[in-house]
Amino acid sequence: MAIERTFSIIKPDATRRNLTGKINALLEGAGLSIIAQKRIQMTRENAETFYAVHKERPFFGELVDFMISGTVVVQVLEGENAIAVNRDVMGATNPKDAAEGTIRKTFAESIEANSAHGSDSAENAAIEIAYFFAGSELVG
Ligand code: GDP
Repeated sequence: MAIERTFSIIKPDATRRNLTGKINALLEGAGLSIIAQKRIQMTRENAETFYAVHKERPFFGELVDFMISGTVVVQVLEGENAIAVNRDVMGATNPKDAAEGTIRKTFAESIEANSAHGSDSAENAAIEIAYFFAGSELVG
Protein backbone atom coordinates (compact mmCIF):
# COMPACT_ATOMS: atom_id res chain seq x y z
CA MET A 1 0.00 0.00 0.00
CA ALA A 2 1.18 3.46 -0.82
CA ILE A 3 1.88 6.30 1.57
CA GLU A 4 -0.76 8.90 0.80
CA ARG A 5 -1.71 12.36 1.98
CA THR A 6 -5.26 13.49 2.58
CA PHE A 7 -6.99 16.67 3.65
CA SER A 8 -9.04 16.86 6.83
CA ILE A 9 -11.16 19.50 8.54
CA ILE A 10 -12.26 19.52 12.16
CA LYS A 11 -15.56 21.34 11.72
CA PRO A 12 -17.03 24.20 13.81
CA ASP A 13 -19.33 21.98 15.90
CA ALA A 14 -16.22 20.16 17.16
CA THR A 15 -13.88 23.13 17.66
CA ARG A 16 -16.71 24.86 19.57
CA ARG A 17 -16.82 21.92 22.00
CA ASN A 18 -13.00 21.74 22.38
CA LEU A 19 -12.83 18.33 20.68
CA THR A 20 -9.75 18.99 18.54
CA GLY A 21 -7.46 16.93 20.78
CA LYS A 22 -9.88 14.02 21.07
CA ILE A 23 -10.41 13.91 17.30
CA ASN A 24 -6.66 14.13 16.69
CA ALA A 25 -6.19 11.19 19.08
CA LEU A 26 -8.58 9.09 16.97
CA LEU A 27 -6.81 10.11 13.75
CA GLU A 28 -3.38 9.31 15.19
CA GLY A 29 -4.68 6.11 16.74
CA ALA A 30 -5.71 4.99 13.26
CA GLY A 31 -2.10 5.37 12.09
CA LEU A 32 -2.38 8.79 10.48
CA SER A 33 0.32 11.43 11.04
CA ILE A 34 -0.79 15.06 11.22
CA ILE A 35 1.91 16.64 9.07
CA ALA A 36 0.29 20.09 8.87
CA GLN A 37 -2.41 21.75 10.90
CA LYS A 38 -3.80 25.24 11.45
CA ARG A 39 -6.88 26.81 12.98
CA ILE A 40 -8.62 29.24 10.64
CA GLN A 41 -11.85 31.11 10.13
CA MET A 42 -13.14 30.24 6.66
CA THR A 43 -14.62 33.06 4.62
CA ARG A 44 -17.93 32.56 2.84
CA GLU A 45 -15.97 32.42 -0.42
CA ASN A 46 -13.67 29.71 1.01
CA ALA A 47 -16.65 27.57 2.03
CA GLU A 48 -18.54 28.09 -1.23
CA THR A 49 -15.45 27.19 -3.24
CA PHE A 50 -14.64 24.19 -1.06
CA TYR A 51 -18.15 22.74 -1.30
CA ALA A 52 -18.85 23.89 -4.90
CA VAL A 53 -19.59 20.28 -5.87
CA HIS A 54 -22.70 20.50 -3.66
CA LYS A 55 -23.95 23.88 -4.90
CA GLU A 56 -27.12 22.49 -6.48
CA ARG A 57 -28.04 20.53 -3.34
CA PRO A 58 -30.86 21.93 -1.17
CA PHE A 59 -28.60 22.05 1.90
CA PHE A 60 -25.78 24.03 0.25
CA GLY A 61 -26.65 27.41 1.82
CA GLU A 62 -27.01 25.91 5.28
CA LEU A 63 -23.79 23.95 4.89
CA VAL A 64 -21.85 27.11 3.98
CA ASP A 65 -23.40 29.00 6.91
CA PHE A 66 -22.41 26.15 9.23
CA MET A 67 -18.82 25.98 7.97
CA ILE A 68 -18.30 29.69 8.63
CA SER A 69 -20.18 29.69 11.96
CA GLY A 70 -16.92 29.25 13.87
CA THR A 71 -13.30 28.35 13.47
CA VAL A 72 -12.15 25.13 11.84
CA VAL A 73 -8.89 23.18 12.02
CA VAL A 74 -7.54 22.29 8.59
CA GLN A 75 -5.06 19.43 8.44
CA VAL A 76 -2.94 17.31 6.16
CA LEU A 77 -2.80 13.66 7.21
CA GLU A 78 -0.20 11.21 5.97
CA GLY A 79 0.01 7.45 6.18
CA GLU A 80 -0.49 4.15 4.42
CA ASN A 81 -3.74 4.29 2.48
CA ALA A 82 -4.47 7.57 4.26
CA ILE A 83 -7.52 8.56 2.21
CA ALA A 84 -9.48 5.37 2.96
CA VAL A 85 -8.18 5.09 6.53
CA ASN A 86 -9.35 8.62 7.26
CA ARG A 87 -12.78 7.96 5.72
CA ASP A 88 -13.05 4.84 7.91
CA VAL A 89 -12.12 6.64 11.12
CA MET A 90 -14.56 9.48 10.30
CA GLY A 91 -17.47 7.12 9.70
CA ALA A 92 -20.62 7.59 7.62
CA THR A 93 -21.81 11.13 6.76
CA ASN A 94 -24.91 10.70 8.94
CA PRO A 95 -23.86 9.91 12.52
CA LYS A 96 -26.93 7.67 12.83
CA ASP A 97 -25.34 5.38 10.23
CA ALA A 98 -21.75 5.64 11.49
CA ALA A 99 -19.98 2.67 13.09
CA GLU A 100 -19.13 2.57 16.77
CA GLY A 101 -15.82 4.22 17.63
CA THR A 102 -15.77 6.50 14.60
CA ILE A 103 -15.39 10.28 14.93
CA ARG A 104 -18.90 10.95 13.66
CA LYS A 105 -20.58 8.28 15.79
CA THR A 106 -18.73 9.53 18.87
CA PHE A 107 -18.96 13.29 18.39
CA ALA A 108 -21.26 14.45 15.55
CA GLU A 109 -24.38 16.44 16.37
CA SER A 110 -26.23 15.90 13.06
CA ILE A 111 -25.80 14.95 9.40
CA GLU A 112 -24.61 18.54 8.81
CA ALA A 113 -22.69 19.24 12.02
CA ASN A 114 -20.75 16.02 11.68
CA SER A 115 -17.43 17.13 13.17
CA ALA A 116 -15.02 16.13 10.40
CA HIS A 117 -14.30 16.30 6.68
CA GLY A 118 -11.97 13.98 4.81
CA SER A 119 -11.10 13.96 1.10
CA ASP A 120 -12.87 11.25 -0.90
CA SER A 121 -10.18 10.67 -3.57
CA ALA A 122 -6.51 11.26 -4.25
CA GLU A 123 -7.40 13.86 -6.85
CA ASN A 124 -9.60 15.83 -4.44
CA ALA A 125 -7.04 15.47 -1.65
CA ALA A 126 -4.41 17.18 -3.82
CA ILE A 127 -6.81 19.99 -4.78
CA GLU A 128 -8.01 20.54 -1.20
CA ILE A 129 -4.48 20.50 0.29
CA ALA A 130 -3.28 23.03 -2.28
CA TYR A 131 -6.26 25.29 -1.56
CA PHE A 132 -5.43 25.63 2.14
CA PHE A 133 -1.68 24.99 2.45
CA ALA A 134 1.52 26.23 0.83
CA GLY A 135 4.03 23.53 -0.03
CA SER A 136 6.40 25.02 2.58
CA GLU A 137 3.86 24.22 5.33
CA LEU A 138 3.96 20.48 4.65
CA VAL A 139 6.81 19.20 6.72
CA GLY A 140 6.05 15.49 7.06
P1 GDP B 1 -18.88 13.46 3.38
O1 GDP B 1 -17.89 13.17 2.27
O2 GDP B 1 -19.15 12.26 4.25
O3 GDP B 1 -18.51 14.67 4.21
O4 GDP B 1 -20.30 13.76 2.72
P2 GDP B 1 -20.76 14.64 1.46
O5 GDP B 1 -19.60 15.01 0.58
O6 GDP B 1 -21.91 13.93 0.84
O7 GDP B 1 -21.36 15.97 2.12
C1 GDP B 1 -20.52 17.02 2.52
C2 GDP B 1 -21.04 17.59 3.82
O8 GDP B 1 -22.33 18.18 3.60
C3 GDP B 1 -21.30 16.56 4.93
O9 GDP B 1 -20.13 16.17 5.62
C4 GDP B 1 -22.28 17.31 5.81
O10 GDP B 1 -21.63 18.29 6.63
C5 GDP B 1 -23.14 18.04 4.76
N1 GDP B 1 -24.33 17.25 4.39
C6 GDP B 1 -24.38 16.08 3.69
N2 GDP B 1 -25.65 15.66 3.52
C7 GDP B 1 -26.43 16.60 4.14
C8 GDP B 1 -27.85 16.75 4.31
O11 GDP B 1 -28.66 15.92 3.85
N3 GDP B 1 -28.28 17.86 4.98
C9 GDP B 1 -27.41 18.79 5.50
N4 GDP B 1 -27.92 19.86 6.15
N5 GDP B 1 -26.07 18.69 5.34
C10 GDP B 1 -25.59 17.61 4.68
